[in-house]
Amino acid sequence: MIRAVFPGSFDPIHNGHIDIAIRASKLVDELVVAVYDKPLKSFLFSPEERIELVKDVFQGFPKITVVGYSGLTVKFCQNIHAQVIVRGLRVFSDFEYEFRMGLANHRLAPDIEVLALMTSEEHTFLSSTTVKEIASLDGDVSSMVPPSVVTALAKKFKELGDDHPVIPTQSIRD
Ligand code: ADP
Repeated sequence: MIRAVFPGSFDPIHNGHIDIAIRASKLVDELVVAVYDKPLKSFLFSPEERIELVKDVFQGFPKITVVGYSGLTVKFCQNIHAQVIVRGLRVFSDFEYEFRMGLANHRLAPDIEVLALMTSEEHTFLSSTTVKEIASLDGDVSSMVPPSVVTALAKKFKELGDDHPVIPTQSIRD
């Protein structure tokens, strides 16, 4: 039985993430989409909000479960007896980061393999940061995220009002 973990901040989840999760779930017995809270990063959505949005997306997928976690990803994998970490690759800058993370994780937990799937062509440009930037300026993100996320983004930016700080900046590869 192969259990894989697809970790990420999912702030918010978008169609690129969903594509990777669904494709990865076909390769394993169980895929755990793990939503992490990195206190040092400033997120637009709270951990609870991000988890709810991800859960909503994968409701009809029996092989996919969704949980929140904190701390080291490899520790989390060991705790739930997962053998594989799934990551998505878009551009070359992703590769360098994922390569470094993959090697570090392998050093910490040699039994856990990293499975990196290449993005589908239509999602190459997609990142949570791009989605947030567009949504904050009232742009149409309905081709990039599921309807529940469109609604959540509109609500969030309405709550924050016009003078919200520029989108919480994350790394370019968000
Ligand atoms: P993190 O903070 O771990 O990078 P993200 O939520 O930004 O969390 O991303 C989670 C995973 O999804 C990462 O492996 C990232 O490379 C991948 N990913 C993000 N956007 C895309 C996309 N458009 N296509 C494929 N994979 C993606």
